[in-house]
Amino acid sequence: MTERAEEKICPRCRQPYSYIERRSVGDRVYLYAVHYHWVAGKRRVRKCYLGPEDHYVYVTHTHAREGLVLRGLVDAERALGYLDALIAYFAENPLDAKTAEKLIPRLKKLLRLLETTIGERGQARRGEKAAPRDPQRAQRSGQAR
Ligand SMILES: [Zn+2]
Repeated sequence: MTERAEEKICPRCRQPYSYIERRSVGDRVYLYAVHYHWVAGKRRVRKCYLGPEDHYVYVTHTHAREGLVLRGLVDAERALGYLDALIAYFAENPLDAKTAEKLIPRLKKLLRLLETTIGERGQARRGEKAAPRDPQRAQRSGQAR
């Protein structure tokens, strides 16, 4: 199987696209993958909506090996898909020790963030006030009042 490294694959329909169109609406920019195809000697255009530019990373083809399809980050459920893809990739392609050492602190940081999120939400559900841990954060929320 040969695949050109520069081939651009649309994350929406998995077909090669010609270019990314940026369309401004108000103060936002939305991205479309533009597909050209030929029907009876006439050029047809098809566009796939990819999402707002500031929420989108159109580098999917560079992550194809890892099985990652990066989409708009609007849907938090997609983060689970990315993690599952990474786990599946590492199961098939064990990391070298050096990379594993770099990954462990990142995963621990992610775990701490998730535990903090669960902790704060749990307290909110029970009607408790979350005690700010770092002084800067306490100061910021104090100024907001
Ligand atoms: Zn497409």
